[in-house]
Amino acid sequence: MSTDQNNQKTCSCGYAKDHAWVVPKPSYSFWGWILVGTGISHPPTEVRFECDRCGEVFERITDPVLLKSHSYK
Ligand SMILES: [Zn+2]
Repeated sequence: MSTDQNNQKTCSCGYAKDHAWVVPKPSYSFWGWILVGTGISHPPTEVRFECDRCGEVFERITDPVLLKSHSYK
């Protein structure tokens, strides 16, 4: 393990956000779900970065500015 200076968060497996095992799980408000469900892009209220391998959620984004760049359809 190197002492990383970018202090990127990782799960127990050591995977960071850009790893294939790590999937962003967005949470939407009630209206957000409806908009996304009808194909309209809408920023989530929260994005959790969860490792599909160990199941650990090691980072959350709740900053509205950052969430805008995490809009999924
Ligand atoms: Zn993991």
